[in-house]
Amino acid sequence: LAEKMKVNPTEIIKKLIAKGIMVTVNQQIDFENAAKIAEEYGFLVDKEEVKDELEMLLEETPDDEKDLQPRPPIVTVMGHVDHGKTSLLDAIRNTNVTMKEMGGITQHIGASVVEINDKKIVFLDTPGHEAFTAMRARGASITDIVVLVVAADDGVMPQTVEAINHVKAANVPMIVAINKIDLPTANPDRVKTELSELGLVPEEWGGNTICVPVSAKKNIGIDNLLEMILLVAEMEDLKANPNKPARGTIIEAKLEKGKGPVATVIVQNGTLQIGDAILAGTVYGKVRAMFDDKGRRIKKAGPSMPVEVLGFSEVPEAGDKLIVVEDEKKARELAERRKELQKEMELKRKQKVSLEDLFSQIQEGSVKELNIIIKADVQGSVEALKKSIEDLSNEEVRIKVIHGAVGAITETDVMLASASNAIIIGFNVRPETNAKNLAEKEKVDIKLYRIIYEAIEDIKAAMKGLLEPKY
Ligand code: GDP
Repeated sequence: LAEKMKVNPTEIIKKLIAKGIMVTVNQQIDFENAAKIAEEYGFLVDKEEVKDELEMLLEETPDDEKDLQPRPPIVTVMGHVDHGKTSLLDAIRNTNVTMKEMGGITQHIGASVVEINDKKIVFLDTPGHEAFTAMRARGASITDIVVLVVAADDGVMPQTVEAINHVKAANVPMIVAINKIDLPTANPDRVKTELSELGLVPEEWGGNTICVPVSAKKNIGIDNLLEMILLVAEMEDLKANPNKPARGTIIEAKLEKGKGPVATVIVQNGTLQIGDAILAGTVYGKVRAMFDDKGRRIKKAGPSMPVEVLGFSEVPEAGDKLIVVEDEKKARELAERRKELQKEMELKRKQKVSLEDLFSQIQEGSVKELNIIIKADVQGSVEALKKSIEDLSNEEVRIKVIHGAVGAITETDVMLASASNAIIIGFNVRPETNAKNLAEKEKVDIKLYRIIYEAIEDIKAAMKGLLEPKY
């Protein structure tokens, strides 16, 4: 500032100190104070937003429609424990012709590519809504389609409901695979009835939920399921531009003996090539070698493709975004800058919505929909709270209960709250220890009540900005 105005810096420092702002010559001051000082010297100050180079790199320039080409869908399998998620993934991988040609060697890199009717589908190897929501909480939404597995002999179970709510909160299309239809006790119609009660009405009953009967064990209906996935992918119009430097997300990373840091990247746009300078979180590198999910050495990987990448300086973190930059020197510089910034960022980690600051967020217009997760000791309380809370919606805020269930508050609930900017309300239940710690880290607001009326009154008060903070 002194240089720009051609005055002695000590003069400015004196002026600032007189205002009670203790600074040294190489310290930054904020715009307001800089403007006031400049005015005293007869300068008019204009505010110019200078974007950080890192921010600019992270921002993706939108592609021209003409450059876009269809890309394979990325699919996550979810469902209640023992309903057959793992078996279904295995069955799907086994239908893959190229795999059979390869002698069925599965290279576990975190995702698998399956081909049907000359079209590719990518499956993430870690099933379940926990992994899905954890990635989402990190800002890495990579799943395009969810396959929900429901065992035909067991029907909709608590984790089925949980998965459905996690998927709904993420607004990702879902296909239901009704599994184990080989069993004599299988009752697909019961599953469909239970799904309908949750608002997922099967297509054949006039709704828009695609249900595919399958048997992962007996290999029945797998092709049909894959075809349905392609159909949904087509409706979703999934596209990317393969002709530009890659952007992607790290889905797995580890240190491997003899290879160094190894990470699996899902390319989301552009094409990743050998020799590319890369940056992922605070880690940089240069793509030395790449392997596909069948363990084959490849030179480039286009949109939606999972690839194992060698050449990182350190092990990056799952969920980190990967970008290609001009050269390794730049990548290193940016990685180092990020490391410095990270400490600051940790401190500035944003509080998710809380009841105390709800009103100001409504006023700012940053909250138009308040998401709530309810956990209670009995189903009756879940229902009663859900109804009363949703009825509080007004013109300014819509209150939406994105998940309600019986039981203690779990880490998964906190992850969902973090990913969906939600408040958790516990009624006659407590958070598990891990959940409590995670909530502190993720800055998720958990409110515990023993009387329904008090919960309702608190939310009412919060909406009007009348809630007294409790410490
Ligand atoms: P996950 O916990 O959802 O991953 O379920 P698994 O894939 O581990 O399957 C749980 C159990 O159900 C295993 O004993 C499987 O052999 C069995 N199973 C999975 N799919 C089928 C199926 O289509 N039919 C029958 N009869 N059993 C199945």
